[in-house]
Amino acid sequence: MPSSTRQLKDRVLEYLDEMTPQLIQISQTIHANPELAFEEYKSMALLADTAEAHGFSVTRGVAGLETAFEAVSVGAPPGNGPTVAFLAEYDALPDLGHACGHNIIGTAATGAALAMLAIRNEIRGTVKLIGTPAEEKGGGKAIMVERGVFDNVDAAMMIHPGSKAMVARGSIASNSLSFEFFGKAAHAAAAPDKGINALDACIQTFVNINALRQHLTPDVRIHGIITHGGDAVNVVPKYARADFSVRAATSDESLDVVEKVIRCAEAGALAAGATVKATHQRHYAHRVPNPILAQLFAANVTEVGETVVQPDPNERKGSSDMGNVSHLIPAIHPYIPIVDPGIGSHTPEFAEAAVGERGDRALIRAAKALAMTAVDLLTQPELIEQAKAEHAKMVNPNARWRQMRFFGED
Ligand SMILES: [Zn+2]
Ligand SMILES: [Zn+2]
Repeated sequence: MPSSTRQLKDRVLEYLDEMTPQLIQISQTIHANPELAFEEYKSMALLADTAEAHGFSVTRGVAGLETAFEAVSVGAPPGNGPTVAFLAEYDALPDLGHACGHNIIGTAATGAALAMLAIRNEIRGTVKLIGTPAEEKGGGKAIMVERGVFDNVDAAMMIHPGSKAMVARGSIASNSLSFEFFGKAAHAAAAPDKGINALDACIQTFVNINALRQHLTPDVRIHGIITHGGDAVNVVPKYARADFSVRAATSDESLDVVEKVIRCAEAGALAAGATVKATHQRHYAHRVPNPILAQLFAANVTEVGETVVQPDPNERKGSSDMGNVSHLIPAIHPYIPIVDPGIGSHTPEFAEAAVGERGDRALIRAAKALAMTAVDLLTQPELIEQAKAEHAKMVNPNARWRQMRFFGED
């Protein structure tokens, strides 16, 4: 007779209690060796090797990304079941190290996956641990979505450290744009009339965007930097470059703003007599938390000791490549507290907390809640059908960004 959902959850909890010292060790090792987007070789190796050592079949370098991996375990009872994926992040930030606590994300996902392996003989379905690099910069998941990594996954889950336990918090859409302006060099004092000033085109773009702000909705964020503004003060700059993020509450709204921002750059170039090359580098879709998965996770994370709060609708939000996953399949990106409210991520305090006592405790609770939610889904596949039905109501498969390709086919 198959074990009940409750019995399997108890075994998962017991397993993770036993594994606690090892998981904390992994989290601390990743934290002590911070690696930037797409350079997470050591962190990826540690998580992938751990999964392999425990019995997962591991493929490294999936989707053409050297620091992405996929670990797969198929349940032992015969018959097809659903596929549930835990997503691991493990990239750090320049200067600040693991100030977003991705050492906890990667290790919690790995711990949850290992716990599922411990009950593999009683679980029908497939468990995947998917290593997704470059969340902070580069959009590993956005690339992996585009390259089909999630096509055969029925539900995806991850956890993010924060200052409150929240399960259904969304994120806003974000676009990365770059503008390159091309002018003509000339002596800045002796022959300025012979030059075309690419820097003027670039500065004019910022001015145009500032004029646009009055006519945008309050959720919109446009922020940019000039990454190249000339080479010598006595030479009319022939080349300038600016990078922008353009964000809005939803993907479609953000794409409307992108069009306007591109017009600002074109107008800046026109005014200076320069030309501009606009590149839309990537799109992070707004996140759509699945209500069925969120409900299950909320019950499980409450059981392990967290108090779940509702997200404040007025709270400002960032963006995540998990948004792209959440449009494709039912997904959740809940938060677990490691700091007090008021302390933000991307700060030295947050980096410290990510290996503090509270961070370590959150890591184990997160692994437990993720694993228990997977037990719910794999023992009651009708829950996955419900999650998919809710998902279908919440997303638009024909949304404009879904038709766009940012990373090519290879
Ligand atoms: Zn971050
Ligand atoms: Zn993060």
